[in-house]
Amino acid sequence: MFVETMSPEETFALGKKIGEKVSPGTVLTLIGDLGVGKTVFSQGLAAGLGITETVNSPTFTILQIYDEGRCPFYHFDVYRIGDLCEMDEIGYEDYFYGDGVCLIEWADLIREILPEKYTQITISKDMEKGFDYRKIHITDC
Ligand code: ADP
Ligand code: MG
Repeated sequence: MFVETMSPEETFALGKKIGEKVSPGTVLTLIGDLGVGKTVFSQGLAAGLGITETVNSPTFTILQIYDEGRCPFYHFDVYRIGDLCEMDEIGYEDYFYGDGVCLIEWADLIREILPEKYTQITISKDMEKGFDYRKIHITDC
């Protein structure tokens, strides 16, 4: 299915709606160019899980863990990953197959190690439809 949003607030609200429903153990992947709205969506998802602290892109740490919501939230941003070994060093399997919700920005960079089942969220722009327009595809893989 796909959803169209016209503002960051709408993308946040979509993330929040999904965050309210998502079950622990779910892995969500986020695909899309820089500045397309992956972190905005992640912030909404975190809000839906009941997290009130600020969620930013964990670009320099790869993984940020939030324990405040109704289940743990594991927020990955693998944009700067050089080698899959770095994921091993983090112990990614504990999170991908853990009891929290995993969200991975730039997940296409670590395709080889994604679990068998995950929900892929692809965000794209269409300048003809306006600067703030985003098309968001949600697919179960
Ligand atoms: P990414 O994490 O994909 O690099 P960010 O979420 O950090 O991107 O930034 C998205 C930027 O796009 C923000 O500045 C946000 O305000 C802007 N924006 C404009 N329209 C939208 C929209 N419909 N959905 C999400 N973000 C939007
Ligand atoms: Mg980001």
